[in-house]
Amino acid sequence: MYKGIAASPGIVIGPAYVISKRAVQVNKVELTPQKIDAEVARMHSAVERTKTDIGTIKERIVHDIGTAEAEIFNAYLMLLSDPTFVGKAEEIIRGQLVNTEYALHMVLQNYAEFSNRISDSYLKERSRDINSLVDKIIHNLEESGEKDSNAPADKYIIIAQDLSPADTADMNKNSVMGFVTEMGGATSHTAIVARSLELPAVVGVRDITSTAKTGDLVIIDGEKGIVVINPNPKILAAYKEERKKFILKLRMLKRLKTLDTVTIDKHKVELTANIEFPEEIVVVQENNAEGVGLFRTEFIYINKSNLPSEEEQFESYKAVVQKMNPRPVTLRTLDIGGDKFLPYFKIAPEQNPFLGLRAIRPTLANINMFKLQLRAILRSSAFGKVKIMFPMITVAEELDEAKKVLEEVKADLKRKEVKFDPSVKVGCMIEVPSAAIMADELAKKVDFFSIGTNDLIQYTVAADRGNESVSYLYDPLNPAVLRLIKMISNSAHKAGIKVSVCGEMAGAPHLAFLLIGLGIDELSVSPSSILSVKKLIRSVSFKDALDTADEALREDRASVIKDMILTRLNQLLYAKEKGEKK
Ligand code: PEP
Ligand code: MG
Repeated sequence: MYKGIAASPGIVIGPAYVISKRAVQVNKVELTPQKIDAEVARMHSAVERTKTDIGTIKERIVHDIGTAEAEIFNAYLMLLSDPTFVGKAEEIIRGQLVNTEYALHMVLQNYAEFSNRISDSYLKERSRDINSLVDKIIHNLEESGEKDSNAPADKYIIIAQDLSPADTADMNKNSVMGFVTEMGGATSHTAIVARSLELPAVVGVRDITSTAKTGDLVIIDGEKGIVVINPNPKILAAYKEERKKFILKLRMLKRLKTLDTVTIDKHKVELTANIEFPEEIVVVQENNAEGVGLFRTEFIYINKSNLPSEEEQFESYKAVVQKMNPRPVTLRTLDIGGDKFLPYFKIAPEQNPFLGLRAIRPTLANINMFKLQLRAILRSSAFGKVKIMFPMITVAEELDEAKKVLEEVKADLKRKEVKFDPSVKVGCMIEVPSAAIMADELAKKVDFFSIGTNDLIQYTVAADRGNESVSYLYDPLNPAVLRLIKMISNSAHKAGIKVSVCGEMAGAPHLAFLLIGLGIDELSVSPSSILSVKKLIRSVSFKDALDTADEALREDRASVIKDMILTRLNQLLYAKEKGEKK
């Protein structure tokens, strides 16, 4: 039995599929000499297809963003014609009588070893490029189809060292039952995507890939963060029972669907949903969310081989906006960097990606790409109620600049007589301490605030949200975080604007209780958490929430605050239950 970090709730039981770090499995296949010419031809045609693909992406980037941004694709094209790369792979195929996948892998390995030895950053970067190219070529090999060749069954539980948000977004829900990783934190984007796909997951489980074997029976308890490998019959029976209870609990919650989100003393809290994919709207509507409080639009970009066109983006946004109409949809502009990367939009390797070119920063450095997205968003505003939000604003200048670009795009659309909502509300995320401290000034510039606690916590306590080694510091109840939230909510209300929380904190009922007491007007949570948060809100009074928050703000330790909140809630819920029985 292993204890990790609970990343996505639910209990699943199934066979393990342990995968190595590389998503593409490379097997060595020995070939007879007669097959070698055909194999070399197979590699060359995949290389040619890759060249064509890259050429197309390059043209799109030049057209949509600019020549400088397309530079990396020239480097890729050069590599694909470089005799030391493709030529070397051919030499290995012919010399060792092996398949293309294996030969490419050998080239990659030699290159990585060489660049490690000489610790040259230019060569290291080239090694990453080659890595990415090898994946592209393997993808283009006819009859490759190797990806899931080692899967133990039709349905399985993935056990991996690490999974990127893009890997997770790409998972086939028909075959993947859940996953366990060695790395990661509860608010990493990989965990967030798991919740949006409703895939039970546990992250931060040390050494699990060295002990678990493909085919082992695995239990994931995504709520408690427990993983069991090859359980004995007693544990297996107990978890089958737990699974039934979990499903029953979900069914009971459905009864709250049509009830309003108000406290016992009739204080209204807006309860909206966070989404990553347009398809999630089905679950959002099933749970009757009052709007979309955060649409992480970067997930429309993340698993594409090239930049989605304005039309493609417009269609995705419009689909969501139209379905939610007249309820609001808050579209956050692109937030890449940190732990989310796009294959066609290169950010040079950074020592600290979460402190580097991330969110509004690369966006403001690529105005054409920004404008393209704003045009698509504004056009979608003609089909319902759209709100626009900028991520990770750190200084006032960034907000001014983003608003200026938005005004330019609006003016352009107006000139061209393209329909959009001219009164579209504009807000910013507060997720960096500098913005929290300056919230009174920033509040004068926007129509609403949304607090991104996932980031606000990591930047306040200087602990990477995806690093399991420092997860003991990453605590939403850290008193400094609570004081910042209170400051932000006071500043918002003083300026007459509303403030929401769209970080994962809002989806945990006991923390939602505290947030209401800290003055938060709206909670935006993952669709699967809507009903459990609503249940809590309907069980407490606003006055209790205010008192609890006041008391929390006087404490100096997260552990004391947590005990205090849980004790309070137990008393309140027990008293309510007793009152109902009478
Ligand atoms: C946050 O930081 O809390 C947030 C909602 O944004 P993201 O999780 O996408 O960084
Ligand atoms: Mg964030």
